[in-house]
Amino acid sequence: MSITATATAQLFIAGAWQEGTLSPTTLTDKYDNSPIATVATASKAQVSDAIGHALASWQKTPLQQAERAQILDRAAELVRRDATHLIATVMADTGFAIADATKEVERSIDTFKLCAEEARRLGGEMVPLAGVPGNHERIAFTRRHPLGVVVAITPFNSPLNTVVHKVGPAIAAGNAVVLKPATQTPLSAAALVGILLEAGLPSGLITLLYGSGGSVGQWLAEDPRPAFYAFTGSTRVGQLLHATVGMRPIQLEMGSLASTIICADADLARAATLAANAAFRKSGQVCTSVQRLYVHRDVQSEVAQRITERVASLPWGDPRNAATIVGPLVSPPEAERVELWINKAANSGAAILSGGTRHGNVIAPTVIADAPDSSLVFSKEIFGPVVVLRPFDELAEAISGANDTPYGLAAGIFTRDIDSALTAAEQLRFGSVHINETSSSRVDLMPFSGIKASGFGGAEGPKYAVRDMSEERLITLSRA
Ligand code: NAD
Repeated sequence: MSITATATAQLFIAGAWQEGTLSPTTLTDKYDNSPIATVATASKAQVSDAIGHALASWQKTPLQQAERAQILDRAAELVRRDATHLIATVMADTGFAIADATKEVERSIDTFKLCAEEARRLGGEMVPLAGVPGNHERIAFTRRHPLGVVVAITPFNSPLNTVVHKVGPAIAAGNAVVLKPATQTPLSAAALVGILLEAGLPSGLITLLYGSGGSVGQWLAEDPRPAFYAFTGSTRVGQLLHATVGMRPIQLEMGSLASTIICADADLARAATLAANAAFRKSGQVCTSVQRLYVHRDVQSEVAQRITERVASLPWGDPRNAATIVGPLVSPPEAERVELWINKAANSGAAILSGGTRHGNVIAPTVIADAPDSSLVFSKEIFGPVVVLRPFDELAEAISGANDTPYGLAAGIFTRDIDSALTAAEQLRFGSVHINETSSSRVDLMPFSGIKASGFGGAEGPKYAVRDMSEERLITLSRA
């Protein structure tokens, strides 16, 4: 699919690309708002039909573990082969700078490979019945079985790798997948479906639906036939989805407000560089982005200076310019919202150390100090290129500040002191705590899930998601 004004993104239902029966939408360029593609919109009848076909195909086309592993390995190879095209597609979808789009594609290769490995080794366990008196002649073991249709609903800020994190484990576990990507980023998902088909996935086992969350997403949730829902997005939508799908298993990866702590004994040069990179990659549109940076008061001015220097070396603007590091936000209203939050913070006494300005859909990378607790930039998930510095005297203050949000996805701490590191690891209430890395340090094989309002149900990370997307059944054997 070329990324031109005439590109058309179609639905993939029952093994065929097709138009939507509702009016299509226009996808726009994230930097200059020009139209770049027409996107089909599924009707309620098409959603229902798609689920029916997916279920029937799954019942008719059981894939053996070895076949699933081969398909996923081939998909990894094809992503590598098509990397240039995929990077362009991710950039067209998101407006990401080339480095961010490249990383998204590279990580997708790793994620597919990890899913292939998990497909190969998926198995149950021996249950030591013989340890219970009277059972010494019995053998018991479990096996893992596919569930059926897995619905994957994905966010705009990781249009390829997060999709692979849902679709890959679902295939590895032997399921059919119905994918509904974010409306803002449909093209990467279509490219991925093409890759899976070329990799040999039977066409009935993958379905692609476009449409708004409130319509297509809601219809998918209301349908009683899917067996599992894998979602990444905001906490508000995750909660809605959970309320609708009821007692079916679900993986909800939701909103976040991530903090990183820099202690006085840290390697400040490294910590400041990593924190700035983690605050501004994908223009801050990352669930683990460093939004709050707690810095020990003794080193606060040095860290602020290092970060603002680093920010000065991050070119921002048009992502088609190869030098750009910080591109636009996903839409004009998002850029206007982030600008408003920065202005409100400034009006309530915060100091804007760097950036703070909006240029079309681009927000210049922004460093803020002295933001009040109640300011939106400090208290709400900003999902933009903004980092708020906050001094602390005692580590306990930084830990309780970081914990004082409804969220709990990831946190980081930089220190050379083992006691501080272990205290933070124990007391920071987050799904992941990274020592001498930022909150945004993720390797795709990690178990990745939030606590509190950041996560519910299963975890991402191929090993864990494959487990969640299969059901474990017990078999016992006795002598006849
Ligand atoms: P979003 O919640 O607006 O949308 C996510 C997906 O849900 C989209 O596909 C959307 O169309 C769909 N959707 C919307 N309403 C729906 C409904 N009523 N029923 C079913 N589906 C519906 O999120 P977004 O703006 O695309 O992404 C940003 C959010 O995602 C942020 O809050 C961010 O923290 C979060 N996020 C979390 C993680 C994580 O791993 N925890 C990772 C990335 C993003």
